[in-house]
Parts: sequence; structure tokens; C-alpha cells
Amino acid sequence: MKGRLRSSVGEDVYTSWFARMDLEGMQDESVRLSVPTRFLKSWIQAHYAERVLSCWQAEAPEVHRIDLTVRTAVRPTVALKEMPAPIEAKRMDGRPSAELRATAPVSANHDALGGSPLDPRLTFASFVVGRANTLAHAAARQVAEGRRGDPVMFNPLYIHAGVGLGKTHLLQAVTWAGNSGSERKVLYLTAEKFMYGFVAALKTQTALAFKEALRGIDVLVIDDLQFLQGKSTQAEFCHTLNALIDAGRQVVIAADRPPSDLESLDDRVRSRLAGGLVVEMGSLGEDLRLGILKSRVAAARTHHASFDVPEEVLNYLARTITHNGRDLEGAINRLLAHSKLNNQPVTLEMAEREVRDLVRPQEPKRIKIEDIQRVVARQYNVSRSDLLSSRRTANVVRPRQVAMYLAKTLTLRSLPEIGRRFGGRDHTTVLHAVRKIEALVSKDAALSEEVESLKRQLQE
Ligand code: ADP
Ligand code: MG
Repeated sequence: MKGRLRSSVGEDVYTSWFARMDLEGMQDESVRLSVPTRFLKSWIQAHYAERVLSCWQAEAPEVHRIDLTVRTAVRPTVALKEMPAPIEAKRMDGRPSAELRATAPVSANHDALGGSPLDPRLTFASFVVGRANTLAHAAARQVAEGRRGDPVMFNPLYIHAGVGLGKTHLLQAVTWAGNSGSERKVLYLTAEKFMYGFVAALKTQTALAFKEALRGIDVLVIDDLQFLQGKSTQAEFCHTLNALIDAGRQVVIAADRPPSDLESLDDRVRSRLAGGLVVEMGSLGEDLRLGILKSRVAAARTHHASFDVPEEVLNYLARTITHNGRDLEGAINRLLAHSKLNNQPVTLEMAEREVRDLVRPQEPKRIKIEDIQRVVARQYNVSRSDLLSSRRTANVVRPRQVAMYLAKTLTLRSLPEIGRRFGGRDHTTVLHAVRKIEALVSKDAALSEEVESLKRQLQE
């Protein structure tokens, strides 16, 4: 069921809302599920009730009701970006903002306002710079190195990129750097955490303290803004954004899309977001992938000195693995686990076997009409100019028809375009050829085999 739900809502939504949902029991037509917080419960009920039910029904059609309850025992939170236990809302309760300001930067981050947990590995030192992220990296550095009272150059700094391209890494790097070097308070929050904080504050009537606390921050870093939902949280976010920017405080934001595509946000927020510096991080090129792999290996070697990945394996991985940084990390982790558990050195064969599912599907090759003509001419031992000529002898008519047929089925060219490229023929001639070969292929095994062989040659 979880697998079905995960693929139905997508990885990010799943991790944000459902990772900590448990099955408590099933009875007749109803299923009992639990989540650790009330906020999660109401959020899931409001936004995903139907989805959860239909995922259940797909596997157990007798189910007609989902009961969602809040678990009483709070389990330890380990994973990054998980929803916080309600406890943090209480800590915030009643604390005057003056006290907040007095706390040391790092503890302020984890304590008073309950910033989202930071991963100690995600620093500037481990961030690899390449073409895809040069600008985003430079801007982030600039922000991280600013001191209290410095003029703010771009506000907000808005970084967007697809999944696994380094947004969280860069934002956490800013947070670490900002908190360690200067007297400034840098707060890293995921958008869910922001919502949670606000909703929890409303419930305990400490919304004012929450707002005050937020406005006492020097640098506010918000990750995954695309998850910010709900009218009142958005309005609050908008106020916070305006207040901070107007007070000359820095705001840094990451999202999976540009401000203009955040459909659920209202226009004022969008234009405020677009009013700073908006930078896109592109997909990780091969160089960058290689750099990231190397940095991952180096990190692994600090704990496992005997672990090593030969250059040819690194090159193989950089060449074949998807653009997603998480897969690169995953690949190194698997190789590490595999070589440790089996006490074997990493080899190319091992890598090919272990990371097969992470390998990027080959993009279908763009086949050109010239290539088709060349390959067909070679196969039938005629010249390319014969194919384009007006000769009508049997030994060129059939190859010409085959070539036109392949041009129609393997390229996106239109019939008139193909006709033009075959010596200025009419599109009806092309259509006739395509139909002719289609009909023949279903009857004539030898021709069918020839055509298949030509396709294979062209796709290689
Ligand atoms: P996003 O938040 O954009 O989905 P993450 O920041 O979580 O992506 O990155 C996914 C993984 O890829 C992380 O392990 C991260 O450290 C790694 N990664 C991505 N870009 C880089 C980079 N430029 N240098 C080093 N590691 C990177
Ligand atoms: Mg992220």
C-alpha cells in the first residue's frame, strides 16, 4: 500500500507527509492508520484522504473507510526534514523574543524556533561547483559571508532546480557557514516546518511570539517552498517575507520551480519572490557528476580507509547514472556496502551489477534521413543517388520504398518533408511507399527481417 501511495503522490510528497504513517489495524471495511502529530493528521485528512482510500481499495476492495489517529508515543526522529514532534511547539510557547535573540546562533537554530535538522555533511566544503550551479553557488556564498548590517545584495535569493540537483545541500551550506562564522542568526526551515510552526503557534495562541521570533532572524532560509500550502500560512509567510526584507534581513529560498510556477501562491508573494535574484541550477553535467562521486568517495574513506573506487568505475558511473545527485550518493553507498560486506575490491563488473537500476535510460537516438538513405543503399548495394533519382527499375524501387518507410517510422518528419528529401517527390508517393512496405512486411518474412535489421543498424 505504501508503495502504491508513494508512486501515486510522488517521492517528495510521500516523504513529507506519509513516511511516518503506520498501520494500526484493519477491521471489516475500515482501516486504522496513525501518524505522530495532529498537524499531520489534519493535513492528510484535508488533502489526501481520497488518495489514501483509493490506494487501499486498489489492493483491498472491501475497504470503505480510513480512520486516521494520532499516535501518543512520540518516536525519535532521525530522518532529515521529518516533521517535528509537537514538543517543539511547547518549547516555543511563551518564550519572549528577547531571550531568543540572546541564545547562541546554533542553538537558536535547533532550539527556540525549532529549525529543521541540518545534515553536517552538507557544507560548502563538500559542494562541488560546476557549470550547472556556478551562479547559485556564488550567490549563496555571498549571502553566507555577509555580516550583520551589510547591505543586502539580492533579496530574496531564490534558487530553483529539479529533484536531487543540490538545493538542500546549498541551503544547508549557507546555514552552516552563516552560523559558524558570524554573530548573525541563520534559521533553516523547510516549508512544512514553517507551516507546522505557524499552525502549532496558532493552536497554542503563541502566533505572535512565533512571528516575533521569525522576525528576529538575520537570515531566513526556506527549503522546498513548493510545499507551502494553505491560505493562512501563505499570508503569514508573505508578512514574514515582507517584514524581513524591509528590515534588510536576508531571505534565501529554494523550490523545485520558478516563482511564476508556484500556482498556489498569490500574486503578491510571487512578485516579491521574483523581485530578488532568481537562479536556476541546471542538471548535473558529466564533470559535475564525476566531481560529486569523487567527493563522496573521499568522504566515505574518512571512515573506511580501505574503500577505493577505481577511476574507470567512477567514469562509468558519471557517464551512465541519472542526473539526480541522490542516485550518485546511492551508488557510492551501495558499492561501499557491497565491498565491505563481501570483503571485495570495487570492480567495474560489481558496479554494473549493483547500480543497474540507477542507470539512465539511453535517450533514443535521433535518426537522420541521410543515415537511413546511406544504410539502405549499402544494404541493397545501390547508390544513394539512385535512391534519390527518378529511376524506376525494380532494384531501386524497393530499396527506395523501404527507405521512405523507415524515414516515416523512425523520424518525426512529415510526408511532404520526406518527399522533398527523396529527390523532390510528392507526399502521395511517400504515402504509397509507406503503405506498400507496411503491407509487405506482414506477409514477407524475409523483407520483415531486412527491415528489422536496418532498424537495428540505425539505432545502434
Ligand atoms: P535537492 O534538494 O535539490 O533535491 P539535494 O541537495 O538533496 O537535492 O542533493 C541530493 C544529493 O546530491 C545530496 O547528497 C547532495 O549532497 C548531492 N549533491 C547535489 N549537488 C551537489 C553538488 N554540487 N556537490 C556535491 N553534492 C551534491
Ligand atoms: Mg531538497
